[in-house]
Amino acid sequence: MPSPRTFYALGLLGYPLSHSRSPELHRGFLRHCGLAGEYRLYEAPPERPETLRALLEALRRGEIHGLNVTIPHKQRVLPWLDALTPAAAAIGAVNTLWAENGRLWGDNTDAPGFLHDLRAHFGVWAERPHHALVLGAGGAARAVVYALLHAGWRVTVAARRLAQAQSLCAALEATAGQATRPPCRPLPWAQRAALAPPPDLIVNATPVGMAPHPESSPWPAGEAFPSQARLYDLVYNPAETRLLQQAHVAGLPAANGWGMLAAQAALAFQRWTGCTLPVDNLLQKP
Ligand code: NAP
Repeated sequence: MPSPRTFYALGLLGYPLSHSRSPELHRGFLRHCGLAGEYRLYEAPPERPETLRALLEALRRGEIHGLNVTIPHKQRVLPWLDALTPAAAAIGAVNTLWAENGRLWGDNTDAPGFLHDLRAHFGVWAERPHHALVLGAGGAARAVVYALLHAGWRVTVAARRLAQAQSLCAALEATAGQATRPPCRPLPWAQRAALAPPPDLIVNATPVGMAPHPESSPWPAGEAFPSQARLYDLVYNPAETRLLQQAHVAGLPAANGWGMLAAQAALAFQRWTGCTLPVDNLLQKP
Protein backbone atom coordinates (compact mmCIF):
# COMPACT_ATOMS: atom_id res chain seq x y z
CA MET A 1 0.00 0.00 0.00
CA PRO A 2 1.58 3.37 -1.01
CA SER A 3 1.93 6.04 1.69
CA PRO A 4 -0.69 8.80 1.37
CA ARG A 5 0.24 12.05 -0.44
CA THR A 6 -1.24 15.53 -0.26
CA PHE A 7 -1.19 15.81 -4.08
CA TYR A 8 -1.07 13.09 -6.74
CA ALA A 9 0.76 13.98 -9.96
CA LEU A 10 -0.49 11.37 -12.43
CA GLY A 11 -0.59 11.15 -16.19
CA LEU A 12 -0.55 9.27 -19.46
CA LEU A 13 2.50 8.74 -21.63
CA GLY A 14 1.94 8.04 -25.32
CA TYR A 15 1.52 9.58 -28.76
CA PRO A 16 -0.83 10.88 -30.04
CA LEU A 17 -3.10 11.45 -27.03
CA SER A 18 -5.70 14.00 -28.12
CA HIS A 19 -8.55 11.42 -28.13
CA SER A 20 -7.65 9.77 -24.81
CA ARG A 21 -10.52 9.11 -22.38
CA SER A 22 -8.10 8.46 -19.49
CA PRO A 23 -8.13 12.01 -18.01
CA GLU A 24 -11.90 11.95 -17.47
CA LEU A 25 -11.66 8.53 -15.81
CA HIS A 26 -8.78 9.42 -13.46
CA ARG A 27 -10.12 12.88 -12.57
CA GLY A 28 -13.37 11.13 -11.63
CA PHE A 29 -11.41 8.65 -9.49
CA LEU A 30 -9.58 11.52 -7.69
CA ARG A 31 -12.94 13.18 -6.94
CA HIS A 32 -14.52 9.93 -5.79
CA CYS A 33 -11.62 9.19 -3.42
CA GLY A 34 -11.49 12.79 -2.13
CA LEU A 35 -7.86 13.15 -3.23
CA ALA A 36 -6.10 16.25 -4.54
CA GLY A 37 -4.20 15.71 -7.75
CA GLU A 38 -3.96 15.99 -11.52
CA TYR A 39 -3.91 13.63 -14.49
CA ARG A 40 -1.97 15.11 -17.38
CA LEU A 41 -1.36 13.99 -20.95
CA TYR A 42 2.36 13.64 -21.68
CA GLU A 43 2.82 13.35 -25.42
CA ALA A 44 6.12 11.70 -26.30
CA PRO A 45 6.56 11.25 -30.08
CA PRO A 46 8.49 8.05 -30.87
CA GLU A 47 11.17 10.01 -32.75
CA ARG A 48 11.99 11.94 -29.56
CA PRO A 49 13.24 9.33 -27.04
CA GLU A 50 14.68 12.15 -24.87
CA THR A 51 11.11 13.22 -23.97
CA LEU A 52 10.30 9.68 -22.88
CA ARG A 53 13.50 9.45 -20.87
CA ALA A 54 12.90 12.82 -19.13
CA LEU A 55 9.41 11.76 -18.04
CA LEU A 56 10.66 8.43 -16.69
CA GLU A 57 13.39 10.23 -14.74
CA ALA A 58 10.76 12.62 -13.30
CA LEU A 59 8.85 9.52 -12.17
CA ARG A 60 11.99 8.05 -10.63
CA ARG A 61 12.69 11.30 -8.72
CA GLY A 62 9.12 11.38 -7.39
CA GLU A 63 8.06 14.52 -9.28
CA ILE A 64 5.42 12.39 -11.02
CA HIS A 65 3.73 9.70 -8.89
CA GLY A 66 2.14 7.46 -11.48
CA LEU A 67 2.10 7.09 -15.25
CA ASN A 68 -0.08 5.10 -17.58
CA VAL A 69 1.55 4.07 -20.82
CA THR A 70 -0.16 3.65 -24.16
CA ILE A 71 0.67 3.28 -27.86
CA PRO A 72 3.47 3.41 -29.00
CA HIS A 73 5.40 3.07 -25.73
CA LYS A 74 4.00 -0.02 -23.97
CA GLN A 75 7.04 -2.06 -24.97
CA ARG A 76 9.42 0.81 -25.70
CA VAL A 77 9.73 1.78 -22.01
CA LEU A 78 10.77 -1.73 -20.88
CA PRO A 79 14.57 -1.14 -21.10
CA TRP A 80 14.26 1.79 -18.65
CA LEU A 81 12.39 -0.16 -15.98
CA ASP A 82 14.05 -1.83 -12.99
CA ALA A 83 11.29 -4.33 -12.14
CA LEU A 84 8.14 -5.82 -13.63
CA THR A 85 5.18 -7.61 -12.09
CA PRO A 86 4.87 -11.25 -13.22
CA ALA A 87 1.95 -10.33 -15.52
CA ALA A 88 3.88 -7.50 -17.19
CA ALA A 89 6.94 -9.72 -17.63
CA ALA A 90 4.90 -12.51 -19.24
CA ILE A 91 2.86 -10.17 -21.46
CA GLY A 92 5.98 -8.23 -22.44
CA ALA A 93 4.28 -4.83 -22.20
CA VAL A 94 3.33 -2.36 -19.45
CA ASN A 95 0.52 0.16 -19.04
CA THR A 96 1.15 1.28 -15.45
CA LEU A 97 4.36 2.72 -13.99
CA TRP A 98 5.41 3.92 -10.55
CA ALA A 99 8.61 4.35 -8.52
CA GLU A 100 9.54 2.64 -5.27
CA ASN A 101 12.75 3.64 -3.49
CA GLY A 102 14.13 5.10 -6.73
CA ARG A 103 13.32 1.93 -8.72
CA LEU A 104 10.93 2.10 -11.66
CA TRP A 105 8.22 -0.57 -11.66
CA GLY A 106 5.90 -1.63 -14.46
CA ASP A 107 2.61 -3.54 -14.37
CA ASN A 108 0.02 -4.53 -16.95
CA THR A 109 -3.52 -3.95 -15.73
CA ASP A 110 -5.10 -4.65 -19.14
CA ALA A 111 -5.16 -8.37 -18.32
CA PRO A 112 -7.11 -8.18 -15.01
CA GLY A 113 -9.14 -5.28 -16.45
CA PHE A 114 -10.32 -7.51 -19.31
CA LEU A 115 -11.19 -10.40 -17.01
CA HIS A 116 -13.04 -8.09 -14.63
CA ASP A 117 -15.19 -6.70 -17.43
CA LEU A 118 -15.81 -10.12 -18.98
CA ARG A 119 -17.25 -11.23 -15.64
CA ALA A 120 -19.18 -7.96 -15.24
CA HIS A 121 -20.94 -8.58 -18.59
CA PHE A 122 -21.31 -12.35 -18.70
CA GLY A 123 -21.66 -13.16 -14.98
CA VAL A 124 -21.13 -16.65 -13.59
CA TRP A 125 -20.73 -18.05 -17.11
CA ALA A 126 -17.40 -16.21 -17.34
CA GLU A 127 -16.24 -17.53 -13.96
CA ARG A 128 -15.82 -21.00 -15.49
CA PRO A 129 -13.18 -21.65 -18.14
CA HIS A 130 -14.37 -22.18 -21.71
CA HIS A 131 -12.84 -22.01 -25.18
CA ALA A 132 -12.04 -18.56 -26.57
CA LEU A 133 -11.12 -17.40 -30.06
CA VAL A 134 -8.99 -14.24 -29.91
CA LEU A 135 -8.76 -12.22 -33.13
CA GLY A 136 -5.39 -10.45 -33.44
CA ALA A 137 -2.03 -11.13 -31.84
CA GLY A 138 -0.71 -7.67 -30.89
CA GLY A 139 -0.17 -6.08 -27.48
CA ALA A 140 -3.80 -6.13 -26.34
CA ALA A 141 -4.22 -9.73 -27.51
CA ARG A 142 -1.22 -10.72 -25.37
CA ALA A 143 -2.93 -9.27 -22.27
CA VAL A 144 -6.25 -10.96 -23.12
CA VAL A 145 -4.65 -14.36 -23.82
CA TYR A 146 -2.57 -14.11 -20.63
CA ALA A 147 -5.73 -13.39 -18.60
CA LEU A 148 -7.71 -16.23 -20.19
CA LEU A 149 -4.96 -18.86 -19.94
CA HIS A 150 -4.34 -17.98 -16.29
CA ALA A 151 -8.08 -18.36 -15.66
CA GLY A 152 -7.87 -21.87 -17.16
CA TRP A 153 -9.44 -21.15 -20.57
CA ARG A 154 -8.44 -22.90 -23.80
CA VAL A 155 -7.48 -20.23 -26.32
CA THR A 156 -7.17 -20.10 -30.10
CA VAL A 157 -5.47 -17.05 -31.59
CA ALA A 158 -6.25 -16.07 -35.20
CA ALA A 159 -3.87 -13.60 -36.83
CA ARG A 160 -3.18 -12.54 -40.39
CA ARG A 161 0.51 -13.17 -39.66
CA LEU A 162 0.40 -16.72 -38.31
CA ALA A 163 3.94 -16.43 -36.91
CA GLN A 164 2.73 -13.63 -34.60
CA ALA A 165 0.03 -15.92 -33.17
CA GLN A 166 2.49 -18.80 -32.89
CA SER A 167 5.02 -16.79 -30.89
CA LEU A 168 2.27 -15.30 -28.69
CA CYS A 169 0.96 -18.77 -27.84
CA ALA A 170 4.42 -20.22 -27.26
CA ALA A 171 5.38 -17.37 -24.90
CA LEU A 172 2.17 -17.24 -22.88
CA GLU A 173 1.33 -20.95 -22.71
CA ALA A 174 4.60 -21.43 -20.84
CA THR A 175 3.52 -18.96 -18.13
CA ALA A 176 0.14 -20.56 -17.39
CA GLY A 177 -0.56 -23.25 -14.73
CA GLN A 178 1.95 -26.11 -14.56
CA ALA A 179 -0.19 -29.17 -13.86
CA THR A 180 -3.32 -28.38 -15.88
CA ARG A 181 -1.74 -26.15 -18.50
CA PRO A 182 -4.51 -24.95 -20.82
CA PRO A 183 -3.55 -24.95 -24.48
CA CYS A 184 -3.10 -21.93 -26.76
CA ARG A 185 -3.34 -22.67 -30.49
CA PRO A 186 -2.54 -20.39 -33.44
CA LEU A 187 -5.02 -20.30 -36.33
CA PRO A 188 -4.67 -18.84 -39.83
CA TRP A 189 -6.81 -15.69 -40.17
CA ALA A 190 -8.79 -17.17 -43.11
CA GLN A 191 -10.03 -20.03 -40.88
CA ARG A 192 -11.41 -17.88 -38.03
CA ALA A 193 -15.06 -18.53 -38.88
CA ALA A 194 -14.54 -22.30 -39.30
CA LEU A 195 -12.92 -23.19 -35.97
CA ALA A 196 -13.84 -26.66 -34.69
CA PRO A 197 -14.89 -27.28 -32.01
CA PRO A 198 -16.57 -23.86 -32.09
CA PRO A 199 -15.46 -21.23 -29.54
CA ASP A 200 -17.69 -20.14 -26.66
CA LEU A 201 -16.24 -16.63 -26.66
CA ILE A 202 -14.93 -14.49 -29.55
CA VAL A 203 -12.72 -11.53 -28.60
CA ASN A 204 -11.75 -8.85 -31.09
CA ALA A 205 -8.26 -7.65 -30.18
CA THR A 206 -7.60 -5.96 -33.53
CA PRO A 207 -8.38 -2.29 -34.25
CA VAL A 208 -10.77 -3.36 -37.02
CA GLY A 209 -14.07 -1.49 -36.62
CA MET A 210 -12.55 1.40 -34.68
CA ALA A 211 -13.33 5.00 -35.72
CA PRO A 212 -12.70 6.38 -38.33
CA HIS A 213 -13.51 3.02 -40.02
CA PRO A 214 -16.64 1.91 -38.14
CA GLU A 215 -18.02 0.09 -41.21
CA SER A 216 -15.44 -2.72 -40.97
CA SER A 217 -15.63 -5.90 -38.90
CA PRO A 218 -13.07 -8.60 -38.13
CA TRP A 219 -15.82 -11.22 -38.64
CA PRO A 220 -16.28 -12.16 -42.32
CA ALA A 221 -19.55 -10.91 -43.79
CA GLY A 222 -22.08 -13.67 -44.41
CA GLU A 223 -20.45 -16.17 -42.00
CA ALA A 224 -22.58 -17.32 -39.08
CA PHE A 225 -21.26 -17.11 -35.52
CA PRO A 226 -21.21 -20.31 -33.45
CA SER A 227 -24.74 -20.50 -32.04
CA GLN A 228 -23.72 -20.39 -28.35
CA ALA A 229 -20.98 -17.78 -28.68
CA ARG A 230 -20.58 -14.58 -26.70
CA LEU A 231 -18.65 -11.67 -28.17
CA TYR A 232 -16.31 -9.13 -26.62
CA ASP A 233 -14.91 -6.27 -28.72
CA LEU A 234 -11.94 -4.42 -27.21
CA VAL A 235 -12.88 -1.50 -29.44
CA TYR A 236 -15.26 0.95 -27.69
CA ASN A 237 -15.35 3.82 -30.21
CA PRO A 238 -17.97 3.58 -31.68
CA ALA A 239 -19.87 2.11 -28.72
CA GLU A 240 -21.71 -0.30 -31.02
CA THR A 241 -19.12 -1.55 -33.46
CA ARG A 242 -20.01 -3.37 -36.67
CA LEU A 243 -19.00 -6.62 -34.92
CA LEU A 244 -21.43 -5.94 -32.07
CA GLN A 245 -24.16 -5.12 -34.59
CA GLN A 246 -23.54 -8.50 -36.27
CA ALA A 247 -23.72 -10.22 -32.86
CA HIS A 248 -26.97 -8.48 -31.95
CA VAL A 249 -28.56 -9.45 -35.28
CA ALA A 250 -27.58 -13.06 -34.48
CA GLY A 251 -29.13 -12.70 -30.99
CA LEU A 252 -25.82 -13.24 -29.19
CA PRO A 253 -24.67 -11.53 -25.97
CA ALA A 254 -21.93 -8.98 -26.73
CA ALA A 255 -19.98 -6.20 -25.05
CA ASN A 256 -17.57 -3.46 -26.07
CA GLY A 257 -14.23 -2.63 -24.40
CA TRP A 258 -15.23 0.48 -22.45
CA GLY A 259 -15.52 -1.46 -19.19
CA MET A 260 -12.05 -2.95 -19.74
CA LEU A 261 -10.63 0.53 -20.23
CA ALA A 262 -12.32 1.71 -17.03
CA ALA A 263 -11.23 -1.35 -15.04
CA GLN A 264 -7.57 -1.17 -16.11
CA ALA A 265 -7.59 2.54 -15.19
CA ALA A 266 -9.13 1.83 -11.78
CA LEU A 267 -6.54 -0.87 -11.05
CA ALA A 268 -3.71 1.52 -11.96
CA PHE A 269 -5.22 4.25 -9.79
CA GLN A 270 -5.51 1.82 -6.90
CA ARG A 271 -1.83 0.92 -7.31
CA TRP A 272 -0.79 4.61 -7.10
CA THR A 273 -3.13 5.84 -4.37
CA GLY A 274 -4.35 2.80 -2.42
CA CYS A 275 -7.97 3.91 -3.05
CA THR A 276 -10.21 1.04 -4.22
CA LEU A 277 -12.94 2.00 -6.66
CA PRO A 278 -16.35 0.38 -7.18
CA VAL A 279 -15.78 0.43 -10.93
CA ASP A 280 -19.14 -0.96 -12.02
CA ASN A 281 -21.15 1.65 -10.12
CA LEU A 282 -18.89 4.58 -10.86
CA LEU A 283 -18.61 4.38 -14.59
CA GLN A 284 -21.35 4.73 -17.13
CA LYS A 285 -20.81 2.80 -20.31
CA PRO A 286 -21.16 4.86 -23.52
P1 NAP B 1 -1.45 -3.75 -31.95
O1 NAP B 1 -0.40 -4.11 -30.96
O2 NAP B 1 -1.11 -2.86 -33.10
O3 NAP B 1 -2.05 -5.14 -32.50
C1 NAP B 1 -3.12 -5.17 -33.42
C2 NAP B 1 -3.34 -6.60 -33.93
O4 NAP B 1 -4.42 -6.55 -34.84
C3 NAP B 1 -2.15 -7.16 -34.69
O5 NAP B 1 -2.13 -8.56 -34.57
C4 NAP B 1 -2.49 -6.73 -36.13
O6 NAP B 1 -1.87 -7.52 -37.12
C5 NAP B 1 -3.98 -7.00 -36.12
N1 NAP B 1 -4.64 -6.25 -37.20
C6 NAP B 1 -4.59 -4.93 -37.43
N2 NAP B 1 -5.35 -4.61 -38.50
C7 NAP B 1 -5.86 -5.80 -38.95
C8 NAP B 1 -6.71 -6.13 -40.04
N3 NAP B 1 -7.19 -5.20 -40.88
N4 NAP B 1 -7.05 -7.42 -40.21
C9 NAP B 1 -6.58 -8.38 -39.36
N5 NAP B 1 -5.76 -8.11 -38.32
C10 NAP B 1 -5.43 -6.85 -38.12
O7 NAP B 1 -2.67 -3.02 -31.22
P2 NAP B 1 -3.20 -3.31 -29.73
O8 NAP B 1 -2.51 -2.41 -28.78
O9 NAP B 1 -3.16 -4.78 -29.51
O10 NAP B 1 -4.72 -2.79 -29.82
C11 NAP B 1 -5.69 -3.50 -30.55
C12 NAP B 1 -7.05 -2.84 -30.33
O11 NAP B 1 -7.45 -3.01 -28.98
C13 NAP B 1 -7.05 -1.32 -30.58
O12 NAP B 1 -8.25 -0.96 -31.22
C14 NAP B 1 -7.00 -0.73 -29.20
O13 NAP B 1 -7.61 0.55 -29.14
C15 NAP B 1 -7.82 -1.75 -28.43
N6 NAP B 1 -7.51 -1.77 -26.99
C16 NAP B 1 -8.54 -1.61 -26.12
C17 NAP B 1 -8.29 -1.66 -24.77
C18 NAP B 1 -9.42 -1.46 -23.80
O14 NAP B 1 -9.16 -1.21 -22.62
N7 NAP B 1 -10.65 -1.60 -24.23
C19 NAP B 1 -6.99 -1.88 -24.28
C20 NAP B 1 -5.96 -2.06 -25.21
C21 NAP B 1 -6.23 -2.01 -26.57
P3 NAP B 1 -0.58 -6.95 -37.88
O15 NAP B 1 0.51 -6.92 -36.84
O16 NAP B 1 -0.36 -7.93 -38.97
O17 NAP B 1 -0.94 -5.57 -38.36
